[in-house]
Amino acid sequence: MKVCINCVMDETDPKIKFDFKGLCNHCSNYHKNIEPIWKNDGKKENQIKDLANKIKNENKHENFDCILGISGGVDSSYLAYYAKEILGLNPLIYHVDAGWNSELAVSNIDKIISGLDLELYTEVINWKEMQDLQLSYFKSGVPCLDTPQDHVFFASMYNFAKKNKIKYILNGGNYSTECIREPLEWHYHASDLKQLRSIHEIFGTVELNTIPMSDIFKYKIYYKYFKKMKVIQPLNYINYEKKKAIKLLQDKFNWTKYKYKHYESRFTRFYEGYWLLEKFGYDKRKAHLSSLILTNQMTRDEAIDELKIKPYTEEEKIDDFNYISKKLGISVDDLHELFNSKNKSFRDFKSNYHIIQFFVMVSRILKIERRLIH
Ligand SMILES: [Zn+2]
Repeated sequence: MKVCINCVMDETDPKIKFDFKGLCNHCSNYHKNIEPIWKNDGKKENQIKDLANKIKNENKHENFDCILGISGGVDSSYLAYYAKEILGLNPLIYHVDAGWNSELAVSNIDKIISGLDLELYTEVINWKEMQDLQLSYFKSGVPCLDTPQDHVFFASMYNFAKKNKIKYILNGGNYSTECIREPLEWHYHASDLKQLRSIHEIFGTVELNTIPMSDIFKYKIYYKYFKKMKVIQPLNYINYEKKKAIKLLQDKFNWTKYKYKHYESRFTRFYEGYWLLEKFGYDKRKAHLSSLILTNQMTRDEAIDELKIKPYTEEEKIDDFNYISKKLGISVDDLHELFNSKNKSFRDFKSNYHIIQFFVMVSRILKIERRLIH
């Protein structure tokens, strides 16, 4: 297995390429397209402050000037703090409860909301439908089992914003912790509604009537150009560093740290820490840690040491097999059987892959998207 000499990405990414020195294409893309804009001298922070003033002015007579999705994770929690305390915005905090919130996530969200005196709106997803959609993904054998959850998170918020004529959406997306995107084989586009529907059509048993859905074309084109909705990523305008953000959240709000990125959902923890790793050999930590290496928040040796630690103990595994199977309404044996079933890829089902990748290519040429998405 060939590993990049600079980060910890390796050939479990089927599209990784190495130059003659052994540097991978994620690293060379970072140096060429992201590094020049990532660290900055504060000028960009003035840009986001100007933009925040414009948002405030335009929404003087509204209850909220923008909407901000929160998961309870570091990035979205820090963004809530930054938007309210530093930018002086008054965002409506939007949370989607898809049935898997960990107690820790709920308590972290509460601490942020009360500490910042913000208003929280929670959309609770119909569990019968969510369960059926999620079970369909398990049965399909594709790696990206978190797609149903990811899909409803963003679709719910976009649809809510459109309905309530909220023009500005803030999100915690950032190059600092996510400059390397997981390869599509590990994590296919959650916004590809064609794939979601086709997997559910084959394996689902319940009709999906209430689950929020939004096709990538609907929000990237219709909402953006016809409804003038703007998505802003404030963390890309500042020198956002994960360790400092965690420290601030702990000190100011008594916020509690998670073991790994995305562990605010019990499902995501099981899926990333166990299922994806043991069934497919895909370790999402490699992309997360590599992002931190590239942005100088961690050394490569520290990342290699962290990767040696198994994210799951045997005890946690048994616990979570029980918990997850019960939630999905199947037996533990059924879940083990699904675990041992044949591995599939997103390519085995209908999708809009070629059209989406065409848009990705255009976005990369226009420098709207700077990460490598392959
Ligand atoms: Zn690399």
